[in-house]
Amino acid sequence: MEYKIKPIGLIHSCYREKFGIPRQSGLVKNATGMIEMLSPCNREEMFKELDSFSHIWLQFLFHEAVSDGWRPTVRPPWLGGQKRVGLFASRSPHRPNFLGLSAVRYRGLRKEKTKLFLDISELDLLDGTPILDIKPYVPYSDKLEDATSGFVQFAEKQVVVTFTSEAESACLHYQQTSGRDLKSLICEVLEQDPRPARQRQKQREYGMLLWEMNIRWVAEKMRFTVFSVQEERMDS
Ligand code: SAM
Repeated sequence: MEYKIKPIGLIHSCYREKFGIPRQSGLVKNATGMIEMLSPCNREEMFKELDSFSHIWLQFLFHEAVSDGWRPTVRPPWLGGQKRVGLFASRSPHRPNFLGLSAVRYRGLRKEKTKLFLDISELDLLDGTPILDIKPYVPYSDKLEDATSGFVQFAEKQVVVTFTSEAESACLHYQQTSGRDLKSLICEVLEQDPRPARQRQKQREYGMLLWEMNIRWVAEKMRFTVFSVQEERMDS
């Protein structure tokens, strides 16, 4: 038995590559993006009353995981990448149907010429992610007071992020031209410590793309110094 499903929308996200994306939605408040609705789901009437909800569930395709396939067990980053658990005890993108689920903040509907967009924030989705469904988040049943979460536990932030004066002025310049608070976004993303567990003891340089900016930093144990914030050169 096979079912055919089609994306109802496409994500435009601040996250232009997988590295740096937080492990879950809700962790980076300054992460913003929008869903471009696709026909036949680009009709305004389909969103009537949605603005009375603060959050929405997004069901989506981990489209950049499909070519890598999946395995029955995975090594979640929560366990330092050391221990294997069953795929269905994880939120790994590499799963049989590559389906993801995220609760994000809903910021409203916007029409631009013939296009319809949903502004969202606090997302954990890569730019270009196909959206398969949207539902309102309803705390009365979705918020489960007695839920437990095994090996996935809240950890206090330990990373300290600083900027060189050049990197700080580049963020300010970007904010003046785009209206986006890039410095806060970088801080929040780095505080989640995107490094693979095995690299955490080494001093190393890293880079990631946020919006159209290339961010570079040095990590030394738990101290990160952002030293470069530059527009990404697009090779044609
Ligand atoms: N909240 C979702 C869930 O639980 O289904 C996603 C959790 S998953 C652990 C989050 C990771 O998925 C991010 O760190 C990012 O690297 C990856 N990711 C996000 N969008 C993706 C996409 N379209 N394709 C492949 N990987 C993606």
